[in-house]
Amino acid sequence: MDSIRIRGARQHNLRGIDVEIPRGKLVVITGPSGSGKSSLAFHTLFAEGQRRFVESLSAYARQFLDQLEKPDVDAIEGLSPAIAIEQRSGGLNPRSTVATVTEIHEHLRVLWAAAGVPHDPTTGEKLERMGAADIVSAISAMTEGTKVVLLAPVPEEEARDPERLIGDLRRQGFVRVRVDGEILELEEAAKSWPEMAKTVEVVVDRLVVRPGGEARLADSVETALRICGTEARALISEDDAWKEISFQTSYRNASTGFMIGELSPRHFSFNSHLGACPACEGLGTETFCDPTLLLGDESLPLAKGGIKGWWKPKAQRETAFAREVIPILRMCELSESALFDELPEKGKALLFHGGELDTGWRIGTEKKKQVKKYEGLCVEAERKLRDARSEAI
Ligand SMILES: [Zn+2]
Repeated sequence: MDSIRIRGARQHNLRGIDVEIPRGKLVVITGPSGSGKSSLAFHTLFAEGQRRFVESLSAYARQFLDQLEKPDVDAIEGLSPAIAIEQRSGGLNPRSTVATVTEIHEHLRVLWAAAGVPHDPTTGEKLERMGAADIVSAISAMTEGTKVVLLAPVPEEEARDPERLIGDLRRQGFVRVRVDGEILELEEAAKSWPEMAKTVEVVVDRLVVRPGGEARLADSVETALRICGTEARALISEDDAWKEISFQTSYRNASTGFMIGELSPRHFSFNSHLGACPACEGLGTETFCDPTLLLGDESLPLAKGGIKGWWKPKAQRETAFAREVIPILRMCELSESALFDELPEKGKALLFHGGELDTGWRIGTEKKKQVKKYEGLCVEAERKLRDARSEAI
């Protein structure tokens, strides 16, 4: 169906009108004030779309939603679930967007957090995560007879209160902990708890890899993940020595080490540090230095007023600039009296945005080129602005 057909709409001012609206198109309803534009758009179309959507939900869900009245209309065909964005004014701030003002953003964030597939922001690769079942199959795949001590790391805050931690663990039926690498019974641990215990792990289970042992292993892995949430560790007996391995359940990219926890709606909010772009902190605007503002009198040599920069005449920075521009000109095979216009693109890029600068000097008998880093005027101006701002805070 490629249109929405309305028959006999009589809501408010409407006088039994029939209208056909194309779907998938931007449609504008116009007319003099009082002619029934809102009655058609909001009180008929949206009201019916919303009503049908709510009716499709369970009685339980329905009690939380506002039920709209059935509009006065003979028939509407081809209607989908509808959302309405009403006119709102005032209260705008730089962080407002159409999506936040209308609260659509709130719903989308929940949807994205539930349905999103995390990818590495640098490489774009899909992130993989290890679930309890993956840990069980990794351990079960070890040589039969391998001894395994399954450990669950304890969050640092909890390790700082040993009395309470040991009490909790005893109540939950655990017998041993591993404190800074040493496995102790809870009684011993209580007596000899180091003042600054760094790594504390609960010994969840001690078992031997054998066929048919998966069910118990699965229970223990679940228990370990309940304690830590994102990691389980295992000590594995290997040629008379113990080897420690870690199983991470966070989403991660094994090749870059990038990791992200459970996706949450905050990951999709530009008002949260988790979701905001680091360059603009979620504002969508960035302050940068416009190179043309640094130009001076273009009929003068670069070092003698061709670039006026941000400095005052005769200031120290002006003298320094006159010195640092010389190797840039030399690198571009220009004389010291060259004008800005004569500078090739790569010279301009170096001047404003920085890069590697061949100073023209040679060191020693090998005639090694001496290369220096040049910050670039725009980069320097942006850095100075940032520093000034952070001092002001
Ligand atoms: Zn940004």
